[in-house]
Amino acid sequence: MPDGLESESRKLLGRLRDLMAEEAAGQERLDKITHLTANSMGCEVCSIYLFRDEETLELCATEGLKAEAVHQTRMRVGEGLVGRVAKSGARVNTADAPSAPGFRYMPETGEEIYSSFLGVPIQRLGETLGVLVVQSKEARKFIDDEVYALEVVAMVLAEMAELGAFVGEGAAMSARHTQPYLIRGVTGQEGAAEGHVWLHEPRVVVTNPIADDPHREMERLHEAVEQLRVGVDQMLAGARGGDKEQLEVLEAYRMFANSRSWMRRMQEDISRGLSAEAAVEKEQSTARTRLSQVPDAYLRERLHDLDDLSNRLLRILTGQGSVTGAEMPDDPVLIARNIGPGELLEYGRKLKGIVLEEGSVGSHAAIVARALAIPLVIRAGRVTTEALNGNHIMVDGDQGVVHLRPDDTVVAAFRDKMAMMAQAQERYASIREKAAETLCGKTISLQMNAGLMADLPSLAGSGAEGVGLFRTELQFLVRSQMPKRTELAELYARVLDAADGKRVVFRTLDIGSDKVLPYMKATDEPNPALGWRAIRVALDRPGVMRMQLQALLRAANGRPLSVMFPFIAQYSEYTQARAEMDKALERERILGHPIPESLEVGAMLETPSLGFAPDAFFREVDFLSIGGNDLKQFFFAADRENERVRRRYDTLNSSFLTYIQQIISRCDTHGTPISFCGEDAGRPVEAVCLAAMGLRSLSMRPASIGPVKHLLRKTNLDELRQVIENAREAGEQSVRPAVMDYLRKQ
Ligand code: PEP
Ligand code: MG
Repeated sequence: MPDGLESESRKLLGRLRDLMAEEAAGQERLDKITHLTANSMGCEVCSIYLFRDEETLELCATEGLKAEAVHQTRMRVGEGLVGRVAKSGARVNTADAPSAPGFRYMPETGEEIYSSFLGVPIQRLGETLGVLVVQSKEARKFIDDEVYALEVVAMVLAEMAELGAFVGEGAAMSARHTQPYLIRGVTGQEGAAEGHVWLHEPRVVVTNPIADDPHREMERLHEAVEQLRVGVDQMLAGARGGDKEQLEVLEAYRMFANSRSWMRRMQEDISRGLSAEAAVEKEQSTARTRLSQVPDAYLRERLHDLDDLSNRLLRILTGQGSVTGAEMPDDPVLIARNIGPGELLEYGRKLKGIVLEEGSVGSHAAIVARALAIPLVIRAGRVTTEALNGNHIMVDGDQGVVHLRPDDTVVAAFRDKMAMMAQAQERYASIREKAAETLCGKTISLQMNAGLMADLPSLAGSGAEGVGLFRTELQFLVRSQMPKRTELAELYARVLDAADGKRVVFRTLDIGSDKVLPYMKATDEPNPALGWRAIRVALDRPGVMRMQLQALLRAANGRPLSVMFPFIAQYSEYTQARAEMDKALERERILGHPIPESLEVGAMLETPSLGFAPDAFFREVDFLSIGGNDLKQFFFAADRENERVRRRYDTLNSSFLTYIQQIISRCDTHGTPISFCGEDAGRPVEAVCLAAMGLRSLSMRPASIGPVKHLLRKTNLDELRQVIENAREAGEQSVRPAVMDYLRKQ
């Protein structure tokens, strides 16, 4: 790059910095920027167009076009050259604008006399906020340095926090980050919460995009990159021998961190007048735009890696760690792109709500959020970009909707809804000690699902009769290394102490599929949900199960004990697992340790095959629990974690209910106690239908016990059964419409 040109673009930046330091704000500052840019670049026109809403751009400031067009001229994304830049996120540089594809002139601006056009997107972190344009009468194509200078001005504009405030009255995007914003996501955990935003990873704010001393900035960049490389190498060293995917990600990090072209581009940015952090952000932004347009999923994933790396570098440069000094509000609603179960547990119950940009219903974070009964919305697009620390936020976990910076009407409506829910809770509290007795005189046993020590207080509060499913893997998942037998024994003993004589059904370790222990060698499987998981792992590598069974026997210390094995697909798996229990029991006897006063050993029915097991299995097993989450995914061959297919199949599908009915009938024949512990047991309508099919024991999230009991007490199961059978005989695919109709009439 010729020296003269380099200094030109630096000079422009220097003037821009002086301008930004002046008192002027708002429209005046914007006008000055267009004036300065046009002058410095020797153009007659410089204009700023900003998004007014997702579809429309508005001319917000201009030097050279007619002043009366400001805030009047608007265009749709994709329309004209400006719209083309906004849509593609790529610059348009032409000496003959009227002949360029897509050209459309706006008569009110008087732009028809200008021949050359250079438009660049105003982007922040890959998101286009508007378009910056220079035009001149002289027909010329702008040279690289001019393009660069304009891009840098666009970047400085993008950093202006008040940018959105320039858009005219009534614009949806005006005063970005101050206007209400509605996000539709997916329910992760029901419930409503109001609070203030707490960003798990706050965005780094670059306050000094322009720098005086490029040498100093180069040094800062080099030091920061060095620190970054050392950090990545340390992470890699720590991860060796561990999870393969994690290693792959770190290898990609290292590749990026050592990328010469990345470094060269940032150095070039600095030499043209940007500060080190602005250079990092500029490259981050460019990479985001480029990569978000590639169709290849693998490459897009790398976008995340590069993004993370750039964020790390920005944090090093600005000294803004995760801890930014901001104080956590009293009513924090956690916002994150995604979060691990351990991190979530660290926040614990102080969170009012959680909103994740990614995440899935079956993820560990969702399981933990459910265990802590914190309303959770997942797949809330753009939430991490839109939310600022301290913003007022309302989370509707039932509908999967998030109201960011809600206006007064939404606040009022939402608070009404919360008040109604609180009233309902009171109503449930009033029936807490009552039995779940239906109008036709049948009593259903309601139990709760748990997995953490923190869940146990709910046993008294919810009115549950016991713990129908204790997911022991949660304890394994939230640790960084395999727990020891004594630790587990102590923990299980505390669980039994807290249950105070109520029955607790411990399910042995259910890992594999989406539940991967960080300290166990991961296996690469094409279909993990159908792969080496749960009892299959336990029987192939019995060490951990033996340790766990021993811990359970020690914890019981003579008290009654209930244990069940997950994911039993055939009779022999149950007999083998049971044999392990018998051996463990014998060992305890020989060692002279107390053995449980009574011992029940059950199985989870989570695969369709087990419903067709030989009669001998039903006679031998002490009890069965239907794991509806897994059973449903295999019955319909629809991945429970894939939102696209999961929702196609209704639990109240006639075929599924018929299958449940057949299982119950086989259990009745052989006197096998049967319960249901999947998520559907906690949904009142589904729960009454399961009871109508003959289930007398349901285990669910503690928060669901009140609503389920309430509906059960108002329902006649015999009548409901008839409604279901009629609908089924009429050939209905789902009995839901008929059931809803019946329940409404009641
Ligand atoms: C189930 O599959 O229904 C179940 C209760 O187990 P999990 O959700 O832990 O797989
Ligand atoms: Mg399961």
